[in-house]
Amino acid sequence: MSFTTLGLTDAIVRAVTEAGYTAPTPIQAQAIPAVLGGGDLLAGAQTGTGKTAGFTLPVLHRLSTDKVGAALTNKTAKRSIRALVLAPTRELAAQVEENIRTYAKYTNLNSAVIFGGVGIHPQIKLLANGVDILVATPGRLLDHVGQGTIKLDKIEILVLDEADRMLDMGFIHDIKKVLAVLPPKRQNLLFSATFSDEIKALADKLLNNPASIEVARRNSTVEVISQTIHPVDRDKKHPMLSHLIRTNNWKQVLVFTRTKHGANKLVEQLGRDGIGAMAIHGNKSQSARTKALAEFKDGSLTALVATDIAARGIDIDQLPHVVNYDLPNVPEDYVHRIGRTGRAGATGEAVSLVCVDEHQMLKDIEKLIKQTLPREVIPGFEPDPTAKPQPIQLRSGAPGHGNRGGRPGGGRPGGAPRNGGAPAGRSAAPAGGAPRNGGNGGNAGGGRGNGGGNAGGGRGNGGGGRGGQNRGPRPATARSGGGDR
Ligand code: AMP
Repeated sequence: MSFTTLGLTDAIVRAVTEAGYTAPTPIQAQAIPAVLGGGDLLAGAQTGTGKTAGFTLPVLHRLSTDKVGAALTNKTAKRSIRALVLAPTRELAAQVEENIRTYAKYTNLNSAVIFGGVGIHPQIKLLANGVDILVATPGRLLDHVGQGTIKLDKIEILVLDEADRMLDMGFIHDIKKVLAVLPPKRQNLLFSATFSDEIKALADKLLNNPASIEVARRNSTVEVISQTIHPVDRDKKHPMLSHLIRTNNWKQVLVFTRTKHGANKLVEQLGRDGIGAMAIHGNKSQSARTKALAEFKDGSLTALVATDIAARGIDIDQLPHVVNYDLPNVPEDYVHRIGRTGRAGATGEAVSLVCVDEHQMLKDIEKLIKQTLPREVIPGFEPDPTAKPQPIQLRSGAPGHGNRGGRPGGGRPGGAPRNGGAPAGRSAAPAGGAPRNGGNGGNAGGGRGNGGGNAGGGRGNGGGGRGGQNRGPRPATARSGGGDR
């Protein structure tokens, strides 16, 4: 099958071909005709499947060939936002918009991206100049709505990208607020890697008789990825990682840590071992994150150490190695993490360094993916069979929080209610509502009132503002580690 046979315009096919793609991926082969047909869509696809082009190409087709689009013959034409893509993180939003720009190259359409953590004024100017397709994180979009610097009354198509992640991040109230200001008659496309009850409820509310497509098994890991567990003592993880990088001559490794503090510490340790590494997490400025990502992408940096939230949306072609330095608190994050490798059919390798404290997490992951992962002990790093599990530290400086069932001192602090939708037994952030990623460079004067019934967390970050993915509100019981990812 080719992109032409899917009915896309020559302008779009030309741009796709120039990007190097000759045949649609399975999600594209299904999503493109469905979206071109004009109906709503519920798509189950994880990152790495080519889902972005799956919605971008038909959206471009629809908007460039209708009456309004056809009339947009030059750059100065009056434009209104006709397609809105909501994404959970700045990185994903930026990446989606980059994709849109690539594919829109030979159409008359333009695009823009807005997210928090950067100044709002350039965005106001950008919006005033006229935009056809807007990609946004929900919080910053609402800031513009609140300030009256955006008009959403001409929206024809709404895309929720990585909807599961948006809900995980506590964006449901923001999404509802956005929906309330959109014209009721529109096409809705919902993409999600997993289908919790929350996602199903959102889909029921949002979508009208949707086409439903799914490319990978639900909650399954991409099969071309080889996955290995390396059992190791907790204090041997760092030497083991350096050993793996050196002996295997890994050149580009994405490493996941549980906390921002853990990421920083590991970067220092790798540096001392002569392995170039940088961290990417919510306490890093946007420019530091962009720099780290750019150096990692161009191959000048061996290891990029990331927390889960920061890593969302990172798209690096054929990333060969993903290392779970710490297992994620939320089993679904394992699937997201290793989705960074083996993208769009390329093979990849995911290894997890698992210590005695993480055995329950590993069990939860294996239950979710319905596989028992192979264990491989590395000679010289044999774990101490008498080692006792210790509480997992989910947040820097907050030992013992979020212990999971079965571990010493387990249980949730303060007995606070859990965030909706997460199965019982998951970890919780400390009660009292610490903002999710305190201190990230936000906009001065941020700190809006807490919205929509979330207990605890104030809206702003520690820096007094909000930034892309790093914004509150987080309920007092966050799903995964609260304020330190
Ligand atoms: P996504 O799932 O949208 O994050 O895309 C994953 C990766 O697949 C990106 O690097 C895309 O550039 C790439 N990609 C998108 N469409 C295709 C295609 N038809 N063939 C091969 N790779 C693709």
